[in-house]
Amino acid sequence: MSNSDIGTFKTCRRKWYFSSYLGLRDRHEPVMGPLHLGTRVHAALERHYAYGHDLEEAYVEIAEAELETLISSGVVFDERAWRKETELGRIMLVGYIEWLAETGADMNLEVLGVEEKLSYDMEIAGEKVRLVGKMDLRVKDTHTGQNLIMDWKTTNNFTRLTDDILMNEQLLTYMLLERLNYKEGDHQFLQGAVFIMLRKVTRGPRSKPPYYERVEIHHRKRRLLSFHTRLIGTLTDYIRVVKHLDEGVDHKLVAYPTPGQQCRYCPFKHVCDMAEDNTDISDMVNDLYTQGDPHERYGASETEEIAS
Ligand code: SF4
Repeated sequence: MSNSDIGTFKTCRRKWYFSSYLGLRDRHEPVMGPLHLGTRVHAALERHYAYGHDLEEAYVEIAEAELETLISSGVVFDERAWRKETELGRIMLVGYIEWLAETGADMNLEVLGVEEKLSYDMEIAGEKVRLVGKMDLRVKDTHTGQNLIMDWKTTNNFTRLTDDILMNEQLLTYMLLERLNYKEGDHQFLQGAVFIMLRKVTRGPRSKPPYYERVEIHHRKRRLLSFHTRLIGTLTDYIRVVKHLDEGVDHKLVAYPTPGQQCRYCPFKHVCDMAEDNTDISDMVNDLYTQGDPHERYGASETEEIAS
């Protein structure tokens, strides 16, 4: 189980049922939108910080490779709109470099590690569970000596994101995984994260700054203990639901929907709606989705072990 898997379970069990339990993937995933923009920007920033690539060049390279793949795949998409969206990402990153030069917002950060995998095995309700995570970038604050995760968020609204970041469970999961894996002599635990937010604007004459913001979050041991307790609670529910589904219990009874804001971007919107009419959704599921591995990001070997 990963933080995103658990997060989906908590947000909407039906979405989790389709995506994690059944492993369904949208056959016709959109090729652009907020998620894609954020992924491109994130990938370029990671190349820049982890491998020293020029940020703008890295971004253009990523975008060009994506366009080539799209064209050769024969998928129908609005190329003009796609180019407009990727250009916005480029403008945001060019501005980011200017902002760093003005503020020195990253000058005290030294990269310690890239794409570190973390995992911890435990037993919940009589079942073996492996909690997994992958940290994109670990940095050291050379002023304070603190060990932090560095991450970037593209957003339209700084305030809302700042509030969300305070409760960010991904950071808590990584911090907890490190503590659970404690070995004699370990003293370099993560102490928090530095998030850099990039606003999704072209910085034209009518737009108003700020366009970038740095937010640092630290968590104490007490908060980690509390997170650990509620995580065990969630995992216990999770295992119970999986057992029920495996036994053939109706998914509506145990993996019920939670309608809300999250439905706007949910890839299972139509099939979810049909399920409410008690219609047989199997044909629709076969037409619209493929089955994949929800744990792909965490590596094949771990997934195979989990499956066995
Ligand atoms: S449409 Fe909404 S309620 Fe239905 S699965 Fe998606 S998030 Fe859940």
